[in-house]
Amino acid sequence: MTDTTRINGFFSEMEAELGPDAINRSAETAVRYGENTMPGGSRAVDGVLYPASTAEVQAMVRAANEYGIAIYPNSTGNNIGLGSRSPVLNGQVVMDLGRRMNRILEVNEKMGFAVVEPGVSYQAMYDELVRQGNRLMLDVTSGPPQGGMLGNALDKGAGYGPFFDHFGFACGLEVVLGNGEILRTGDGSLDSETLVNWHTSKYSLGPILDGLFAQSNYGIVTKMGIWLLPRPPAVRSFHFTFPDDGDLAEIVELCRPLKMSNFVPTLFRVSNDLYLCGSEGESPEYAASQGRKTISDEGRKALRERHGLGAWNVSGAFYGPSHEAMEAQINRVRDHFGQSGKATYIPHEDAGSIPPLQVAINAFSGIPSLGELGLLKWRPGGGNLWFLPGTPMDGDIANEFQTLARGIYEDHGMDYMVMNVCGPRFARGLHVMTFNREDADENARADACYRKLSEAVAARGVFVGRAPIDYHEFHMAQTMPAFRNACNAIKTALDPNNVVAPGRYGIG
Ligand SMILES: Cc1cc2nc3c(=O)[nH]c(=O)nc-3n(C[C@H](O)[C@H](O)[C@H](O)COP(=O)(O)OP(=O)(O)OC[C@H]3O[C@@H](n4cnc5c(N)ncnc54)[C@H](O)[C@@H]3O)c2cc1C
Repeated sequence: MTDTTRINGFFSEMEAELGPDAINRSAETAVRYGENTMPGGSRAVDGVLYPASTAEVQAMVRAANEYGIAIYPNSTGNNIGLGSRSPVLNGQVVMDLGRRMNRILEVNEKMGFAVVEPGVSYQAMYDELVRQGNRLMLDVTSGPPQGGMLGNALDKGAGYGPFFDHFGFACGLEVVLGNGEILRTGDGSLDSETLVNWHTSKYSLGPILDGLFAQSNYGIVTKMGIWLLPRPPAVRSFHFTFPDDGDLAEIVELCRPLKMSNFVPTLFRVSNDLYLCGSEGESPEYAASQGRKTISDEGRKALRERHGLGAWNVSGAFYGPSHEAMEAQINRVRDHFGQSGKATYIPHEDAGSIPPLQVAINAFSGIPSLGELGLLKWRPGGGNLWFLPGTPMDGDIANEFQTLARGIYEDHGMDYMVMNVCGPRFARGLHVMTFNREDADENARADACYRKLSEAVAARGVFVGRAPIDYHEFHMAQTMPAFRNACNAIKTALDPNNVVAPGRYGIG
């Protein structure tokens, strides 16, 4: 069969079996689903599927096996800076699960979990929890509110509260495997119509298969349990600014013990000046250098002064019965950071009037917000990449990585924007790259900068935790052969005809 015959046969069968609402083959729709913010450009998409149930997903996967069609699943499709909705490779059919499978199937207040279909966004879940009395809190990202819990967890996304590890706090998946079988993970693997512990007990009999579906292409997840936190009566944040780039070493040393003992329940958001000020509009120096140069030190200083921020800015929060009841904890944190002699304290009440700090407060409070999306406008032209390595929570090492990455950004004429999300032992470095995709030179520099950063940190023993689609294959090639062999062997076992998202994370 020619490619066209296969595709036409597949879509005709889907339309006949599932109805016209299940498919869209218009050129305009295909273009929209192929768009992204990558330097590698948009992808060519061969049509879009809109399943309405797990049974329909299964029917589509079976037909894909029959006709040899590659299906790229998305849930809410807001993976901005990492690929948006577009497949890794050209010539795939996008499956938009979120359009028709977007129900909150259960909110279990007593046991503190929800069960969601792929299309449930952070905003939809937040609104529903508020509607039900606001007694439970979800862990949100500070990214797009229309992004969703299921897709974000599958891409190993993260937030900032005690349940920051979104895949870690997911419990019980329903998956349509590439071979068309339906699999339930965890306690759901019991061969029974009645399942009592599916979304409460994470590790049941046998191997823990859940992890196979994070950052992979072995199946399509159609349902997920997600744990929620009882909403605390009060959230009281605290913030410190530090004046110098080199203060990062000391900040990391100060944060570590407070997280190691779990005295501070949230992660620390340790953001540099541009990560925060960058969401407030276009770089004041972009036009003058036409994007060829990184913003000057004077330019950064002026932005800091305008916003009342530092070269580094630390945010965290406590949860408690009232703001007054948390006074002692706030005092202890103030004393602790006060040891440095360089920290300036910004209390919760004042932080609310500084927009980027309000984003942090929202994130700690489980409230989705749009504020950080302003980072996409720092430079014109719509380019956005996230480089996501980490550092051990060791001040000297974190500072060494900072110097290294800052230098590479500067060499490529990019503006260094980073937030270190600090836990007890490890900080994820959310490095943003905003660039003009319409300027060929700037686009090429962004691509070269990403590759150089990746090679430089890998040479120092550090890997990325998540990657933009342009670099899935590149990063997979950085893994040891046994890792690649295992990934490919699992692919062959669960998706023998390679129909689910070939190329995603460099597999298949
Ligand atoms: C300014 C800004 C701030 C951001 N902040 C954060 C942040 O704080 N934390 C964070 O984690 N991210 C952040 N992001 C990145 C990203 O926008 C979010 O992670 C977003 O939630 C991901 O998109 P989504 O939830 O719509 O997932 P989707 O796009 O639906 O899914 C992500 C990927 O998972 C796979 N997938 C999705 N659904 C399925 C399925 N059902 N079965 C199998 N595979 C599937 C697909 O490959 C898909 O591309 C930020 C982005 C920007 C621009």
